[in-house]
Amino acid sequence: MSHNSIHWFRKGLRLHDNPALIAALKDCRHVYPLFLLDPWYSNNSCIGINRWRFLIEALRDLDASLKKLNSRLFVVSGPPTEVLPKLFEKWKITRLTFEVDTEPYSQSRDKEVMKLAKEYGVEVIPKISHTLYNIDRIIDENNGKPPMTYVRFQSVVKDIGPPKKPVPAPTKEDMKGVSTASSEDHEEEFGIPTLEDLGLDTSSLGPELFPGGEQEALRRLDEHMQRTAWVCKFEKPKTSPNSIIPSTTVLSPYVRFGCLSARTFWWRLAEVYRGKQHSEPPVSLHGQLLWREFFYTTAVGIPNFNRMEGNPHCVQVDWDKNPEHLAAWREARTGFPFIDAIMTQLRQEGWIHHLARHAVACFLTRGDLWISWEEGQKVFEELLLDADWSLNAGNWQWLSASAFFHQYFRVYSPIAFGKKTDKYGDYIKKYLPVLNKFPAEYIYEPWKAPRSVQERAGCIVGKDYPRPLVEHDVIHKKNIQRMKAAYAKRSSEDKDDQTITKGAKRKATSIQDMFEKKAKR
Ligand code: FAD
Repeated sequence: MSHNSIHWFRKGLRLHDNPALIAALKDCRHVYPLFLLDPWYSNNSCIGINRWRFLIEALRDLDASLKKLNSRLFVVSGPPTEVLPKLFEKWKITRLTFEVDTEPYSQSRDKEVMKLAKEYGVEVIPKISHTLYNIDRIIDENNGKPPMTYVRFQSVVKDIGPPKKPVPAPTKEDMKGVSTASSEDHEEEFGIPTLEDLGLDTSSLGPELFPGGEQEALRRLDEHMQRTAWVCKFEKPKTSPNSIIPSTTVLSPYVRFGCLSARTFWWRLAEVYRGKQHSEPPVSLHGQLLWREFFYTTAVGIPNFNRMEGNPHCVQVDWDKNPEHLAAWREARTGFPFIDAIMTQLRQEGWIHHLARHAVACFLTRGDLWISWEEGQKVFEELLLDADWSLNAGNWQWLSASAFFHQYFRVYSPIAFGKKTDKYGDYIKKYLPVLNKFPAEYIYEPWKAPRSVQERAGCIVGKDYPRPLVEHDVIHKKNIQRMKAAYAKRSSEDKDDQTITKGAKRKATSIQDMFEKKAKR
């Protein structure tokens, strides 16, 4: 039978390692590569302008690649459950393919869509390619529970074996006999909107350091993989949060949108490592991809993963509500130059180093301001190019010592930490030009500079740059005691485990099992 297929791009904005796209092309007469601008996202999450730009560029890049295969990308706005049935009829669709998503919204969306597809007699083929492994398999191999430590996680995936090899991108050969019926008014009806078309305010757009799209992702990957010694020696804790040029790959936005396949990244690293001495997980680049996989697994296996309440693994903490302090943190007005420089880089450029994320996350939560990690998660969700539901929630829980990491007495200093890798404060001066003329001696603590020094620097603390919001030396000790009390109240580990076992038997597993079975048929 010849099929009319829709391949529905959601993440996975690429042609390489896209098994669901390949499945769409098999025995196919007409293929419609589709992207839906789902209003759920704009209504339920705040997406910053830099991330919108990244997405639009990724779509343009995808369309350009599809054109080379004599096909096109069709962009349609509207809820999937309304748009897809209309398209099924209009295009006489017999098959729908997509990459499996694991987040709760996506899971319930796909369940609805699969029900509808059945009503319309449309075969559905979901394929796993956003993660290295089938996440449900990892949970199953760990007796139905997500592994709660990296070491345990490593041992489970070691038993499973290496991730599958990526599949090649479709070629003109794969497209033989397959056509895309795009009309002359394609641009008008199905074209990629501009930021202006979407009604977005572009006045705050930052410099474009990381253009979206698969081509740029693969170019960046190639560039890094040529640095053999750097790749082999890579140890995350030894990279710098405040270098002027990023000290890690900045492939995260590309992996997040699926412009780069995690499996392609993994196997390219394996090629570089082959026959050489190299660093190992958790600190190596392979190790970083496993951290991603670890948090995806816990996000699937733990209920209410992006919240404190109802999340059985999250320590319940009596966080303060302090809108003024939260706004100061978000808007880079804490009076701690290291923290404010990081928050400025985040807003302007959409990417900050992992340890910079550590510093500002610790400062907002258990370190200094005692504000809930959920508030920080929201700000990151808006401003990060790589904002990812599972990774954002998992890492915020880690940094706030709410889950996974429990050494709450180890607090980052907003003064000393940055000095270790940037003694003279060049990073601070780049992002906070108001402090440009401060001598290195005071750049991390400008409030300590004598008035004459402040005058010479042309920056009076309290007038041109804020005074520090809190006294770090005093407040962090008080907060350690508050954290100690929260831990003391925490129910026993055994009780937590029982709740998680229950949580693991969530609906999500059964949906994915269903996906798997269908895919195998
Ligand atoms: P590299 O060091 O080059 O690592 C390669 C890849 O491994 C990354 O692209 C990423 O896909 C993955 N990776 C690396 N570190 C982690 C990690 N700790 N957890 C999960 N995956 C990792 N990362 C996101 O992609 N999206 C988020 O929303 C996100 N939120 C975070 C929130 C907080 C509070 C913290 C502390 C970290 C967060 N991270 C998030 C993880 C990490 O900081 C970024 O993935 C990393 O800094 C991206 O830079 P890179 O691509 O240069 O990383």
